Amino acid sequence: MGRLFLITLEGNFYSCKHCQTHFALADHIISKSFHCRHGKAYLFDKVVNVTVGEKEERMMLTGLHTVVDIFCVACGSIVGWKYESAYEKAQQYKEGKFILERFKVLGPDGSLYLAAQEPNVAGSDGDDV
Ligand SMILES: [Zn+2]
Repeated sequence: MGRLFLITLEGNFYSCKHCQTHFALADHIISKSFHCRHGKAYLFDKVVNVTVGEKEERMMLTGLHTVVDIFCVACGSIVGWKYESAYEKAQQYKEGKFILERFKVLGPDGSLYLAAQEPNVAGSDGDDV
């Protein structure tokens, strides 16, 4: 595959919990109210240093979406997904945006998120997989 070119972020960023590759700035968070199988997930406007998987249609709490999984470009671990398109008009603001699963990334202060700490909140605006 050749050499990896990693983009370095400055400021408050989220990074890979396995290899510390930078992914996204806290400034680019659109919403923290998403949920995945493992707890919290954040919606980001922009994510770097990831590769995408195959497109697939996925039924979520908020309707049918076309998504691709996203992977850390350095270590290959899955870190979330990207919305390619949404079928419901109300959900189309997510198109082209990225989800990072909170427990798969390190926070701006290097914190690890433990999925077991947070109970699932019923009736949240989140997506599920
Ligand atoms: Zn990594």
